[in-house]
Parts: sequence; structure tokens; C-alpha cells
Amino acid sequence: MPSFNPPLRTLMGPGPSDVHPRVLAAMARPTIGHLDPAFVGLMDDIKALLRQAFKTRNEVTFPISGPGSVGMEACFVNLVEPGDTVIVCRNGVFGGRMKENVERAGGVAIVVDDPWTRAVDPQRLEDALETNPQARLVAFVMAETSTGALSDASTLVQIAHRHGALAIVDAVTALGGVPLDVDGWDIDAIYSGTQKCLSCPPGLSPVSFGARALDKLRARKTPVQSWFLDLNLVLGYWSGAARRSYHHTAPINALYGLHEALLMLHEEGLEAAWARHALHHRALRAGLEAMDLRLAGADGERLPQLNVVGIPDGVDDARVRQTLLDDYDLEIGAGLGEFAGKAWRIGLMGQSASRRHVLACLTALGSAMAAQGRPSDCGAALAAAQKVYAA
Ligand SMILES: *Cc1c(COP(=O)(O)O)cnc(C)c1O
Repeated sequence: MPSFNPPLRTLMGPGPSDVHPRVLAAMARPTIGHLDPAFVGLMDDIKALLRQAFKTRNEVTFPISGPGSVGMEACFVNLVEPGDTVIVCRNGVFGGRMKENVERAGGVAIVVDDPWTRAVDPQRLEDALETNPQARLVAFVMAETSTGALSDASTLVQIAHRHGALAIVDAVTALGGVPLDVDGWDIDAIYSGTQKCLSCPPGLSPVSFGARALDKLRARKTPVQSWFLDLNLVLGYWSGAARRSYHHTAPINALYGLHEALLMLHEEGLEAAWARHALHHRALRAGLEAMDLRLAGADGERLPQLNVVGIPDGVDDARVRQTLLDDYDLEIGAGLGEFAGKAWRIGLMGQSASRRHVLACLTALGSAMAAQGRPSDCGAALAAAQKVYAA
């Protein structure tokens, strides 16, 4: 059997995004022991860089070993005690997973539904908290990758606090792609992932917990049901000055990669990275509209890093995506849940938010649709995108 050599793809789906060669090179450096003093120094640097990326001074800010779903699970198993009422705002697939997590942790989930593609409605959250004054927690997805909707995290957290509830925020797709200010917005617990706007391979989940969340954790009457995710135990490994005790073996080389990616974000500057995502979103949108393709969602609520595009009648979803892969080595995402077969999800995340990606995607989509008999003016699309760049 030969070694595995993956094809060289351009990744413009809902994650993973393209990984910079600097990050891949960092991951190929020699593996050392996970309690080696040099490695402990790296862990401290990663925590410092993550605090900058999240804009927080929270001591408890570190990457959990495992993909974004593990960060989600860590927030719920630590903060939800059996019997706790949790308001879950659901405007897509990932909100649905939060509900599952609440229930598996023994909590009572009260779901507040919003239409797909729309942001979470603050008024509905307010109403739910008024009807359920016993609620201890509010959970919502800031950047819904299944629908492309951006919610107003700052306002939702304020509402939760006004009603004496803590806020758990899913920032898997948000971190690095749109403005996020954990301390400024007073977020209690937040989790993210590496393979979206941080442009790392998947496998780590940065989290941050504020003082109120840690108080709730300390006041638990029952032990955290998951041994692996119990923050009380994990923190013996990820914090503490001199003494770090073995908890599990960290994915050492994956952490080299995260360190390099966070360094790149730091070099670019957070604000510059947010502006870059916004710019390429505008260019992509102009190009798509020039080919009569429409973005789902409402103005002011669209994520720049995840664009949900309606599939025109008569165009075969799977065939277009296969042509993109075969002819352009380009991956875009299929619709999820209600959008399966009805929309594409075009990611402009991290390294994939670039002019090269936007222009390649417009060209590839236009020609793939033309091959199915839907005339699409690629030239007009490219010109519309270039006009945005020239402005
Ligand atoms: C991708 C994603 C997740 C899950 O992350 P994995 O790394 O796939 O486990 C959770 N929430 C949102 C909003 C996501 O986009």
C-alpha cells in the first residue's frame, strides 16, 4: 500500500479552511514530551495568544484537546447541573446540538426558535427569560455555520445577565472572522474551533471561562459527569505555575500548529483580519449577484465568512460540487438540515478569505453552472468583484 498523498484542494466550505504552509511546517517539527519544560512554555504562549484572540483577561483560557464539538460539550457538562433550566436559542443546526448537550447533562432545555438564516431575536430571548425566571443559563450560537447568520452576542449576553443567567456562546466560526470581545461583552463561557477562521487543521477547541462561570462550577453539588472534560481536573494540566500534573497527553504537534496560526493572526492584527473577511465577502457577494445568485439571510445579519447561496432551479447541487472538485480542486459546502439540496455554503474563512479564493470560486461556479445549461456570465461576475477591490 502506498503512502497517502492527499489532492491539493482549495477549501471554501464550512471548515476546514485552507491551512497556511507556515502552520503545516510548524506541525512537522519534532515531537517532544508533553511535560517537557519547553512544551510547558509553549502552552503558556498559546494561552496568552488565545487571550488576545478572544479579547479577554480570563485566566482560564486554553485549547481543549478535541474538535469544536468537544469545546461545546465541555461548556455544558461543566456548567449545567442536573435540574438546571437552560434557554437555548436555536436558529440552525448547531443550536440544536446545544439542546442535546443540555439534556444529556441532565438539564432542562427551553428552546427559543428563530427562523433559519435570521439572527437570534433578542426580544424572544427576553420573553423566554421572563416566562422562565428559574433559568440559570442562556446558550446561543454567535455565527451559525449552517445558515450564515450572525447574532448580536453583546445584546444577548446583557439580556441573560439582566435576568440573572450566565451566557454560553458558540464562537466556533466567529473567532477570527468577525468582531468578538469576550471581556467587553462580559461573556461567561465561550468555545471555538481551530479549522474555521483560525485556519488550522481540526482537532483543538479553544475555550475561555469567566469568573461567574467558575463560581458556578465550584458551587456544583454533583461532580461533573465527564472525567475527561471536568475543568477541575483539566486545569491541573493547563494551569498552575510550576507543578503541572498529567491529565491526558496533549496533541503536541497540533498545538505547534495552533501556536503558529495564532501568531499569524497576531501579526496581521485582529481588526485587520475582521476587515479582510468583510472585504472578501463584499466582493464575493457582488460577483454572485452579477450571475443572478442570491445570498440567503437579512442585511446586517450575514456572516462574511460563511455565505449561503440559493441554488437556482434546474441546477443539480451535487453535480456542480463534483465539477468544482474535479475541474478546479475547489471544495464548497452543501446545504445542511433545511438547506440540503437547496443552497451552497461558501466559506471565506481564515486563509480562504482572499482575492484569489473569491475569483477562483466565481469562475468555477459560473462555468459549472454553464455546463448544466444555465448561462452564467463569469466575466461580469469577475468584473463586479474586482470593482469592490478597486473601491
Ligand atoms: C463547526 C462547528 C461546530 C463543531 O465543530 P467541530 O470541530 O466540527 O466539532 C460547532 N459549532 C459551530 C457553529 C460550528 O460551525
